Amino acid sequence: MDLSYGTKYEAFRQEIEQFLDEHSEKAPKGFGMLGGMGSDGMVAWQDLLIKRGYAARTLPKEYGGYGAEPDLLETVILDEVFTERGIARGMSGQGASMLVPTLLEHGTEEQKREWIGPTLRGEVLWCQGYSEPGSGSDLASLQTSATEDGDDFLINGQKIWTSTAQISKMMFILVRTEPDASKHSGISYVLLPMDTPGIEISPLKTMTGNAEFNQVFFTDVRVPKANVVGKRGEGWKIANTTLKHERNMLGNATQIESTLNRLKAVLRSESVNGVRPIDSPVYRDRLARLEARVLTMKFHSLRLLTCNLKKESPGVAGLVVKLQGCQLNYEMAALALDVMGEMGVLYKRAKYERAAGYWQFQYMFMIGLIIGGGTAQIQKNIIAERGLGMPREPKTVQEAR
Ligand SMILES: Cc1cc2nc3c(=O)[nH]c(=O)nc-3n(C[C@H](O)[C@H](O)[C@H](O)COP(=O)(O)OP(=O)(O)OC[C@H]3O[C@@H](n4cnc5c(N)ncnc54)[C@H](O)[C@@H]3O)c2cc1C
Repeated sequence: MDLSYGTKYEAFRQEIEQFLDEHSEKAPKGFGMLGGMGSDGMVAWQDLLIKRGYAARTLPKEYGGYGAEPDLLETVILDEVFTERGIARGMSGQGASMLVPTLLEHGTEEQKREWIGPTLRGEVLWCQGYSEPGSGSDLASLQTSATEDGDDFLINGQKIWTSTAQISKMMFILVRTEPDASKHSGISYVLLPMDTPGIEISPLKTMTGNAEFNQVFFTDVRVPKANVVGKRGEGWKIANTTLKHERNMLGNATQIESTLNRLKAVLRSESVNGVRPIDSPVYRDRLARLEARVLTMKFHSLRLLTCNLKKESPGVAGLVVKLQGCQLNYEMAALALDVMGEMGVLYKRAKYERAAGYWQFQYMFMIGLIIGGGTAQIQKNIIAERGLGMPREPKTVQEAR
């Protein structure tokens, strides 16, 4: 049986392989949310990938993409080759993976032209100003206000858990512009420069030892009304578009498969009581169970891509990736630490630390991502209510307002 994709596509594969043979040493190293983000190396690598059509491949040329026609097999091959080499296929993050598709759907022509290109190229980093101290899962209860002042809004309030705020040039922020409207109405989605006077950023350290997120305080922060995306007071719809893309980013099957390949290498190279973990039935069984789930995610992602190309809604299939993907990332890191034994607890440049602490970092960071972008419990509510059509959770009188 011939399982190759045919001459045209095999030539495409060879072209990518040759490109990576010649250029892969330019790919930025580092891991985690801050790993390499915004660095010159990252910007140059991203620029090269877009020029070759390996990143932002199907995004319109006029907004800074490569402008290719969507082709399922080309996407599959690109993912396969980059994943085999353990190299990220282009920049991800709140800007490229979440804001760009939101602007393509809801932005004005000016907003698209101003922000999509620089964001894709990694020149402008974005952070997401959604959560507040009293508004996480119940995001629509947010209280940060934006009051009118001529052609501007004045923003006052506080956001929390804002990842990468300390290095971001821009924030997409949810603010309440109509305080008397019902909870889900009266919210606006605004593009806010982070160097505007009145913004104060206070880092929050996580158990990884790094300050990956922040509290952000706003005192009379002036922003033009023209920076609202979509209609004023109708930001809840726009916010949900971004959340959909956030779920897809956090459950990205290519990244998960790449982590699995790395995990297999650990099971081949470590030794437990003189036996390679890959040769131990206990560890191999755990690996096989994880691999089955990773492959399920991979084929599921092709199904989603097909729906996307046909402009069909994937329905419940599109809602499960974040829940599954974040849990899998965490469990893969847990297996890596287990097979490292006592070395698994070393961290932060300890003498016998493996892979510069990559797995230790993954273990501590990925448990957070089971919460970030909507907790596992909330994902299950969404799957049940929006995906499976089960009865909605009863609301308290206050929540229903
Ligand atoms: C690593 C990380 C990065 C983050 N980055 C960002 C960011 O960049 N920008 C941003 O705006 N936010 C960010 N967040 C915040 C994240 O979106 C919130 O933490 C999350 O939505 C949960 O909100 P909360 O922390 O207020 O918890 P709460 O909403 O108070 O929830 C507490 C617990 O109650 C459960 N719960 C709440 N309501 C229900 C319900 N209806 N049914 C069942 N269980 C329920 C939750 O599942 C959770 O276990 C990040 C969080 C993490 C961990």
